[in-house]
Amino acid sequence: MTASYEDYLRSDHWRHVREAALARAMGRCQNSGCHYRLLSREELAAYPPRGYTLDVHHMTYDRLGHERLDDVLVLCRRCHGAAHGLEFSEEPSPFSEVVAGVVRKLEVEA
Ligand SMILES: [Zn+2]
Ligand SMILES: [Zn+2]
Repeated sequence: MTASYEDYLRSDHWRHVREAALARAMGRCQNSGCHYRLLSREELAAYPPRGYTLDVHHMTYDRLGHERLDDVLVLCRRCHGAAHGLEFSEEPSPFSEVVAGVVRKLEVEA
């Protein structure tokens, strides 16, 4: 990951796309066949905060900087890892931490 890409992940455009994608996904992993969903607030209180992350995955970088909502997919950590050909890891990436922060905000506002 380059520094410029990290800068991009902090941009207003990406924040907008990410929040729209997370809102559209309504707390669920969008990988068909996966039933992962964000925990309820009550469940979060009992089991903070493990297993409670959704990532916003780029299906294409063709429009990086001006993505359409359909260019991204909301995935749970496991499906996201699989999408990149990685083994599932419980180690959160910086990217995931940023997304988790937005999800936490959406949860609070819901
Ligand atoms: Zn991804
Ligand atoms: Zn999933």
